[in-house]
Amino acid sequence: MSTLKIAIQKSGRLSEKSLQLLESCGIKISNGDRKLKAIASNFPVEILYLRDDDIPQYVEQGVADIGILGENEVWEKDKNVANITQLGFASCKLSLAVPKDEIYTDLTFFQNKRIATSYPKILTQFFVSKNINVIIEEISGSVEIATGIGLADAIFDIVSTGSTLLMNGLKEVEIVTNSQAVLIANQNLTIEKQEILNKLLFRIDSYRNAKENKYILLNAPNESITEICKVLPGIKSPTILPLVEQGWSSLHSVVKEDDYWDVVDQLKMLGAEGILIIPIEKMIK
Ligand code: ATP
Ligand code: MG
Repeated sequence: MSTLKIAIQKSGRLSEKSLQLLESCGIKISNGDRKLKAIASNFPVEILYLRDDDIPQYVEQGVADIGILGENEVWEKDKNVANITQLGFASCKLSLAVPKDEIYTDLTFFQNKRIATSYPKILTQFFVSKNINVIIEEISGSVEIATGIGLADAIFDIVSTGSTLLMNGLKEVEIVTNSQAVLIANQNLTIEKQEILNKLLFRIDSYRNAKENKYILLNAPNESITEICKVLPGIKSPTILPLVEQGWSSLHSVVKEDDYWDVVDQLKMLGAEGILIIPIEKMIK
């Protein structure tokens, strides 16, 4: 029987979240020491632990069938792989930063400047599209010290909170692009492997939907039900059950995590009482 080989980062910012995602899809991975590979006991997948830089190449060559890594690495390596789905974690920005005392007005600041980065391809494409000439100094790590030691006039790197920039006397002046973790796949998967991947994608989707939604229950006077139903779209439409108390009903539905405070405010205005909001474990559409 076929097994789907999944490449994830061996150790770094993506490792734990990648494993958590697979575990939340019901995949049991049993190895404590994380050597090079592990086999799942209850789903036909094998995990390969690699450096994130190597994942696009391995997926292109078919050493791994699929991989989980940052979009930034996928764009930079620019290999022939299928870009399947965004996973909603490891969100970050790829930004340009300059020493904090520089007067910055717009992108023309960078004309003929030296910029240190580990993402030369993404940066080159950006400045070519803006018609600005820059000199790119490619370095593999500790980019944020490049201006302090005189290697470059500016840097282009991953930024999340900006605290690393501040510590190194830099300020963020342009966000070039945003990135998050994605799932990539080899372009020539066998039918058997594609079927395993489809099952996995279905589970990822159910997990992500569940995380993004909440189950909501409330009691409402019958005369408000029509208005309340407009606020509660649900998957199809809300479930309505009569209460023992005359003239009242219980409504059940699903709301988006991002929306639920707004929804709760509107429901209260419409006379709803006893509102409960409950996390969803899995959501199959
Ligand atoms: P490796 O040893 O595997 O090459 P690395 O040092 O290149 O690891 P990490 O720093 O672990 O990589 O980052 C992995 C990915 O996590 C990045 O490519 C990016 O997509 C994302 N990432 C990096 N920094 C942050 C951050 N501060 N906030 C959120 N996501 C980040
Ligand atoms: Mg790396």
